[in-house]
Amino acid sequence: MSLITLADAIQAGTTTATLATQGALARVGAHDDAVGAFVHVDEAGALAAAAAVDAQAAAGRPLGPLAGVPVTIKDLIAVAGQPLTAGSAMLAGYLPPRDATVVRKLREAGAVILGKVSLDEFAMGSTNEHAAQGPVRNPWDLGRVPGGSSGGSAAAVASGFGAASLGTDTGGSVRLPAALCGVVGVKPTYGRVSRSGVVAYASSLDQVGPLTQTVADAARVLRCIAGPCGEDATSLDPSGGADAEGWEAACGRGVDGLRVGVVSAWLDAVSDDVRLAVETAAAALEAAGATLHEVALPLAAHAVPAYYVIAMSEASANLARYDGVRFGHRAALSADDDLDALYAQSRAEGFGPEVRRRVILGTWALSSGYYDAYYDRACRVRRLVRDELTRTLQRCDVLLGPTAPRCAWPLGEALADPVATYHMDQYTTAANLAGLPAVSLPWGLGADGLPAAVQLHAAAFDEATLFRAAGALERAAPALPATPTGLTETP
Ligand code: GLN
Repeated sequence: MSLITLADAIQAGTTTATLATQGALARVGAHDDAVGAFVHVDEAGALAAAAAVDAQAAAGRPLGPLAGVPVTIKDLIAVAGQPLTAGSAMLAGYLPPRDATVVRKLREAGAVILGKVSLDEFAMGSTNEHAAQGPVRNPWDLGRVPGGSSGGSAAAVASGFGAASLGTDTGGSVRLPAALCGVVGVKPTYGRVSRSGVVAYASSLDQVGPLTQTVADAARVLRCIAGPCGEDATSLDPSGGADAEGWEAACGRGVDGLRVGVVSAWLDAVSDDVRLAVETAAAALEAAGATLHEVALPLAAHAVPAYYVIAMSEASANLARYDGVRFGHRAALSADDDLDALYAQSRAEGFGPEVRRRVILGTWALSSGYYDAYYDRACRVRRLVRDELTRTLQRCDVLLGPTAPRCAWPLGEALADPVATYHMDQYTTAANLAGLPAVSLPWGLGADGLPAAVQLHAAAFDEATLFRAAGALERAAPALPATPTGLTETP
């Protein structure tokens, strides 16, 4: 059931928050051993929150827009009293004292939090294989990756473990797993959503976004979590909250006269099923009244190298705090070890190989001999990519292209070749470098019976147009089977 259908049913009294929560928990019990999405299930907390919503309904008090809806939270985002590991041994045992702003807002809207879901360590990865708790499996084919780094979120929504999940997107981590798991994933404009209480990966790129089954569901969740927050100086809303109210309606508005830029260069290196998905989606938008315009975006071809230099540099600074003294795992030392040994040993034990690789490369890119050649140059490329996208989005209302170069790939491939995996982000990183909103939505099944997806970009703070185009695409999209093929239904 979609989030809005479920929320409406709870509002109307045709079902209860308790039944919805019990149903979601039963699905987790039946399937999560196979999928591995959860790192922590808060059964008691979820049932108590659901009972509170039902009591509110019984007393005739008004219910919030997410009242009684079970949701999951990427384990990079603080939920008071539930463990926060960031997918890392470094934070094993850490219990955050309070909710992240986005979690507080979900609760205020009435959502029921089922628990925390898996991710690549510190959100670094594209496959959810770099997780201290082990990989997540794609619910459409358990031998394949769910995408990352919000792989637990995408797998959970696809499996019916709750109607929505919050992920984070630094270079594609909401959109890529959404694409590989056949769900909707929105990366909002940078600054649209507060990052307070979210473990920092690369602060100039990080943004929290919803993963859901439908576009309107994502619009509703985003409306609930968006808005400026006194604890994140980068959060803002130029419309003062007015446009968020219109996002759900925008999904149904249609695309008559909308100018859609089709990024043709982004179709050169994708698999046949992904190319077909984008071409059919373009034709569907045209049939619905939009006009198509071919766009090239030559500078966006450099997004991946610029992104990885910037993301690794910021990560090396953000992760310096985990030294075993101020924060994080502390190694057991012998009497003749010194302070340097404590730092080195704690970090070597606490961080996995991909995080260590990035901290080392990021530190190197920021060092005095290399700063100009790498970090400074990457920042200049970022500016060029941003200007190119901003200019193009003055001629076009939205840009259409692929999310990922192919459908879900087998487990293990990414671990063998990290650089090839970085290139899986070639169509997602530009939006982060430019701070723009973007959405990935399912477009039927590809040749191997795995979900295919398409992506839309819009101008900064123009989520309304993004939802308008995404809603129209969703209405034209080939339907996906109700149950992912990797899950065998239990009665
Ligand atoms: N795959 C990208 C990376 O590893 C993006 C991750 C993200 O968006 N958190 O950096």
